[in-house]
Amino acid sequence: MTLDCLVLGAGIVGVSAALHLQDRGRSVVLVDRAAPGHGTSYGNAGLIERSSVVPYAFPRKLSALLAYGLNRRSDVRYDWSHLPKIAPFLLRYWQASAPKALEASAAALLPLIEVSIDEHRALARRAGAEPLMRAGGWISLYKNPAAFALAAREAEQLRSSHGLAVSILDRASFLALEPAFSEGAPIAGAVHWEDPLSVEDPLALTTAYAALFTHQGGHLAVGDADTLEQDGNSWAVQTAEGRVVARDVVVALGPQSAALLARFGLRVPMAVKRGYHRHYHQEADAMPGRPVVDEDAGYVLAPMRQGLRLTTGIEFAAADRAANDIQLKACETAARHLLDLGRPVEAEPWLGLRPCLPDMKPVIGAVPGLSGLWCDFGHAHHGLTLGPASGRLLADLITGQPPFADAHGFSPARFSG
Ligand SMILES: Cc1cc2nc3c(=O)[nH]c(=O)nc-3n(C[C@H](O)[C@H](O)[C@H](O)COP(=O)(O)OP(=O)(O)OC[C@H]3O[C@@H](n4cnc5c(N)ncnc54)[C@H](O)[C@@H]3O)c2cc1C
Repeated sequence: MTLDCLVLGAGIVGVSAALHLQDRGRSVVLVDRAAPGHGTSYGNAGLIERSSVVPYAFPRKLSALLAYGLNRRSDVRYDWSHLPKIAPFLLRYWQASAPKALEASAAALLPLIEVSIDEHRALARRAGAEPLMRAGGWISLYKNPAAFALAAREAEQLRSSHGLAVSILDRASFLALEPAFSEGAPIAGAVHWEDPLSVEDPLALTTAYAALFTHQGGHLAVGDADTLEQDGNSWAVQTAEGRVVARDVVVALGPQSAALLARFGLRVPMAVKRGYHRHYHQEADAMPGRPVVDEDAGYVLAPMRQGLRLTTGIEFAAADRAANDIQLKACETAARHLLDLGRPVEAEPWLGLRPCLPDMKPVIGAVPGLSGLWCDFGHAHHGLTLGPASGRLLADLITGQPPFADAHGFSPARFSG
């Protein structure tokens, strides 16, 4: 099979890129070793995070560094044995989180964040997936009055600097909006981010976008991206249906992207931030109306089709290290103080790998010196949010159209040389 473009990886990022390339008249094969959406895109908190105008930075304050250093917090956990390996990444992450550098990363990402909802809505409309999306934003919940006061001030600033729709809720207003939470829960107040959408089944969303791709004539193939090789001026990969050759290839393998690129000489300083989820049975009247984040304990309670999904914060551990339930157990205990959480749906938690770069930006663009090799990965905490916008930007670059946003800051060239 010979085509214009191979897209490796059928997570939300690869599926979105394939659709945008197809929309520009390219013949595309989307290759994955599994069905679409079963990687990290399966288990996220479902937020299309329009209000996330500043990326998740490494803490800079000494008090926060000490608190995290003791490894006693539930939002971030370190596997000590992994620290020596990840130290260079953490150092670069810390440097990129200094105020000026963080401002630059946020500015690069902003045009993508700003179109994230419109881009999803456009795909969802065509894919018949709009019913999976919920308006009404999400809520940051605070138990500590000082933390709430600070968060409220920062939210007001973002409202005026970025035009975000934000409401500050006192305890009573929060409980009126989210009656599933217990009257006696230790709640100081909340910030309601009203712009974002949330998705009630992220797997179903990626599956619907992939179905749109095949419905429009795109081809989905089962194959191993590790078989990728250069073939003259083209690229080839082995699939269950035979060898597929294309002029351009897009690496959209999420957390597995860096390993493949290393084979072709590009060293990408990627690390994974592991995250867990588990669903809990919840009666309809005990289900929150929108995702709620317990900011003190660092987890999300997201209403999903399968139940109430509790997603954890960050675990720094090797990608292949066995899953554990340390963080999830701590978050579950905290959640039971906030609402009547039902019994778990699954026996074991799900574990996912957020693909992260130290400068908090994804990698989108051409690999220098290797004609036809393109990147679209590294979306960290915001891959669901940014998948369609990134796909649009990448398709602009591949087809030589003026990019809708400045793509320089995302170029893989920032890691070469
Ligand atoms: C707990 C948690 C909560 C999150 N919450 C949110 C949220 O609320 N909002 C948000 O925007 N983001 C969220 N994220 C982040 C988001 O889920 C990821 O950024 C996103 O899913 C990454 O998508 P992807 O397509 O790049 O990767 P993936 O979904 O991992 O897709 C990569 C694909 O590549 C395939 N693949 C890998 N290796 C090979 C190979 N050798 N051959 C063939 N195929 C291969 C895999 O099978 C997979 O389908 C969360 C993440 C976690 C872990």
